[in-house]
Amino acid sequence: MPSVGDFYRCPEGHKAKIVWISEDKKLIAVKCPQRHFSKVVKVTNHERPALSSRRHRTKEREVYVRDLVFLIRI
Ligand SMILES: [Zn+2]
Repeated sequence: MPSVGDFYRCPEGHKAKIVWISEDKKLIAVKCPQRHFSKVVKVTNHERPALSSRRHRTKEREVYVRDLVFLIRI
């Protein structure tokens, strides 16, 4: 039976730490220090001059977040 402070795999397979367990022990929260892919955002591309109209003036940037807390049913 897991307990708070134990290591548990996050949904992406990293080594995460259990920070909370529900009273019925069916739900746990794990906090993972690794980076997780969050979303892709379009950002203005300042590297290209605005006159180059054939080029898109935005580019995509991948956003990663750390220290995500996952709720996992066990
Ligand atoms: Zn993770």
